[in-house]
Amino acid sequence: MFAVNQTTLAVHNSDDRFPVRRVYCVGRNYADHAREMGSDPDREPPFFFSKPRDAAFTVAEGIRPELPGVVPYPPLTGNLHHEVELVVALGSGGSSVTPEHALDLVWGYGVGVDLTRRDLQDVAKKTGRPWETAKGFDASAPLGLLAPVTVTGHPAAGRISLSVNGEIRQEGDLAEQIWSVPEVISHVSGFVELAAGDLIMTGTPAGVGPLLRGDRVLGSIDGVGLVDFHVV
Ligand code: MN
Repeated sequence: MFAVNQTTLAVHNSDDRFPVRRVYCVGRNYADHAREMGSDPDREPPFFFSKPRDAAFTVAEGIRPELPGVVPYPPLTGNLHHEVELVVALGSGGSSVTPEHALDLVWGYGVGVDLTRRDLQDVAKKTGRPWETAKGFDASAPLGLLAPVTVTGHPAAGRISLSVNGEIRQEGDLAEQIWSVPEVISHVSGFVELAAGDLIMTGTPAGVGPLLRGDRVLGSIDGVGLVDFHVV
């Protein structure tokens, strides 16, 4: 009838492409970020939301070939926020996976930004409405190159940071995650069956804030990689 593009992501030092199936995100997974959002980090279990698969893209390639390294400022917001996150890329799946076996599902890792229309999210929270328009908009998950576990290992500690125009905005350590990567995979797999091609964005450290057109954004995780783009 017609062709629909399969979302695929670029892989570090390889011509292989990582085909995306689903994109899950963890909310409030660093205590200092939970506090800045007005929550008690000690008493809340992890929660999850999704982005559409084609919200994820290799930002160096851009949403279109003529826009490499660029994220378009989305419509209908005046408060677009950055959230730098460790992204887990699954090479296999399962249901009700135990934390002990969860890392067996992981193909590799990357660095991503969970772009958020914070003004729309605030309205959604107050009115008890879904987060889709706040979190699941076009180009809302710019990603750096993915790298396989053979390159990254399974990072459980390491600096995670994001700068805007050279000024550090977010800084933390993967070791500060409230729920570790194996625990996150285990939790999500209790709600849904995970499969090869799934991405899990594992939450952001404190320091989230607004982006403006023209901003240069650089996210980094030690031993994992970078994500680097301009907002236009
Ligand atoms: Mn997030």
